[in-house]
Amino acid sequence: MSASLTSLAYLVAAVLFILALRGLSSPVTSRQGNRFGTIGMGIAIVATLLHHGMSGWGFALIAAGIALGGGIGTALALRIQMTALPQLVAGFHSLVGLAAVFVAAAALNAPEAFNLGTPGHIHPQSLVEMSLGLAIGAITFTGSLIAFAKLQALMPGAPLQFPGQHKLNLGLAILLAVLVVLFVMSGGSQILFWLIALVALGLGFLIILPIGGADMPVVVSMLNSYSGWAAAGIGFTIQNLALIITGSLVGASGAILSYIMCKGMNRSIFNVLLGGFGTDTATAGPGGPVGDRTVKSGNAEDAAFIMKNASKLIVVPGYGMAVAQAQHALREMADTLKREGVTVKYAIHPVAGRMPGHMNVLLAEAHVPYDEVFELDEINNEFSTADVVYVIGANDVTNPAAKTDKTSAIYGMPILDVEKAATVLFVKRSMASGYAGVDNELFFRPNTMMLFGDAKKMTEEIVQALGH
Ligand code: NDP
Repeated sequence: MSASLTSLAYLVAAVLFILALRGLSSPVTSRQGNRFGTIGMGIAIVATLLHHGMSGWGFALIAAGIALGGGIGTALALRIQMTALPQLVAGFHSLVGLAAVFVAAAALNAPEAFNLGTPGHIHPQSLVEMSLGLAIGAITFTGSLIAFAKLQALMPGAPLQFPGQHKLNLGLAILLAVLVVLFVMSGGSQILFWLIALVALGLGFLIILPIGGADMPVVVSMLNSYSGWAAAGIGFTIQNLALIITGSLVGASGAILSYIMCKGMNRSIFNVLLGGFGTDTATAGPGGPVGDRTVKSGNAEDAAFIMKNASKLIVVPGYGMAVAQAQHALREMADTLKREGVTVKYAIHPVAGRMPGHMNVLLAEAHVPYDEVFELDEINNEFSTADVVYVIGANDVTNPAAKTDKTSAIYGMPILDVEKAATVLFVKRSMASGYAGVDNELFFRPNTMMLFGDAKKMTEEIVQALGH
């Protein structure tokens, strides 16, 4: 395949990747977006293989790699629970980082293959790109492994901090920069290459370690961004246009997503990276302690009665809905209420659940009409006009401490103003706190009724009670 034909194929792939990102921005077009991305990647792979005039043995090796990696990826994707997707994504990012390290090592050891010079005499510009790809790749690798371990509860999710941590990180970052300069000046020294890898691996580990609790969504999308920049850096090294474009798209979209998530929590990215958030421990474990405050609790019949008499109900879904897989029962409940003349709307907080768009995906799966689903900004001033809010498995995203308690770990995070509705129905199994480990005083308000139980079971019981 000629060089110009390869460039053309890469251009088509790039356009498809952009269309994929555009498609993924809405649940209505996300499947189509996914298809564009898959076709684009297929074109990029075929063009790369044909361009390099590979031997039969080379083809066989790559086919085996694709079959093995694709097989593992397919098996994982089919088996993974929706709630475990964030750690799967973190795990996949770690592999992107590792791949960048390996490609950089290959380019260092066989520079002739990529027109970069000869071993020990590689062009300085290529060495700069190579070392950047290597460093970012190595940071992404260990950082993503820690994020995976925290999200999978293989290690404590709480921030792990020690004195002098930030100074150590700063020292390592400076050391990394010095090593990169020495590496470029050396023409590509093997020792310096692996020293850069070692320091960057340590830095990735240390950067993510102090970040805990509710900051994981930002960390995952930030690592997504890192993996993209690592790929772009390596793309520059081996002069592969497809890698540069894809890496930049991933890097930029991950950075934008991190920004949106930070805005959703009213935090700066530096505040997130400095870590320590979510150190508060829950004071109300399952079932209590409640102290001398009273909690009003009810059952499905009570909830059905209140709902039937409402004219407007807003549903606020959260992580618990995902765990219980209650979205289908929820749609059935909404359909029944709509037949009774109740207006039903859904309010989605940007960080509800455990990954961006988590709630939108589940509601789409249950065929909830898109025009009933609203973002925080669109619906927040409607709570005061709602008769009932049905909070199903959500907690942090409704917690007024974010507005009132300056000492709270979630202070400043924009929240859904559910307490402004006439009645708030909270479906959850206990008085336990949510992901950020912060108590929710909304449970004790006079206009709140707790519906203790599994989200799916309780919603099904409400549907039954509505039928009577
Ligand atoms: P929360 O984690 O605050 O609360 C979820 C609640 O669901 C819990 O309090 C739990 O209470 C309840 N629950 C769990 N299982 C069930 C069940 N089977 N049936 C009924 N209830 C159940 O979730 P939110 O969605 O309100 O907030 C998301 C939090 O996660 C935020 O702090 C956010 O920053 C963080 N986060 C968000 C990510 C994202 O990208 N969206 C990623 C990672 C973290 P109980 O045990 O009493 O049932």
